Amino acid sequence: MMNNKQLRHLGDIPIIVIRSKRRRSIGIQLVANTFTLRVPHRASDKNIQRSLERFTPWIRQKQAALASRPLAPVYNFRYGEHYPWLDTKITLGKASNRAEPRLAGNQLLVHLPTSVLESTAYIKKRIVHFYKSAGLQHFSERVDYFAERVGKRPTEIKVYSYKRRWGSCSNKGVITFNWQILLAPAAVADYVIVHELAHLIHFDHSKPYWQVVERVMPDYRTHRKWIKDNGHLLTLDADNGQRNPGVLN
Ligand SMILES: [Zn+2]
Repeated sequence: MMNNKQLRHLGDIPIIVIRSKRRRSIGIQLVANTFTLRVPHRASDKNIQRSLERFTPWIRQKQAALASRPLAPVYNFRYGEHYPWLDTKITLGKASNRAEPRLAGNQLLVHLPTSVLESTAYIKKRIVHFYKSAGLQHFSERVDYFAERVGKRPTEIKVYSYKRRWGSCSNKGVITFNWQILLAPAAVADYVIVHELAHLIHFDHSKPYWQVVERVMPDYRTHRKWIKDNGHLLTLDADNGQRNPGVLN
């Protein structure tokens, strides 16, 4: 039995090689920071090596583009720090009582028990909690707005933390959003909403599907490109954007 998945390297760039029975030719892809070489099931080692050499200029060029992207901001989770919220910024402020994190103007008021005063992990958790609950409110309102235009309504809306996607739509009509899209401009978050709503009509990315998206949001391509170029910046994790959510399901 041949192993279907193999890790190779081009210099220090890892390349995943995937063998598949359906594949007739060798092709390379870059998805979410990972290079994947897809080859026919019985491709010889020599063949794979030759293809890798052929793709080398392309791989190097893409890798250089990845390396020169701006880095995700690093947050310290201290009072006074700013976080993106759609088209504005919110500032972390001190809540005097134990209420849930809430917005007062542009201040996100978070209460810290003395036992966790130094705990950035705790503060971050409270901030994410805020993004999820206020996000549900925002998504619900915008879904209402766009559902009219798409002509379909989801059965339920949820907000999760996802590592590799901005939203998803189940075959039961449940739409789930990644709260991190709230770190993007509002128009981009709207695009994700339209993208998922359109799946209630076409459960694929076919031409008719994109026609629905375009009818509701004629400039969707700008927002789709924005996510592709900037998606790695939409994080509160100080990992310098190595992680790249970026798939719309
Ligand atoms: Zn999709």
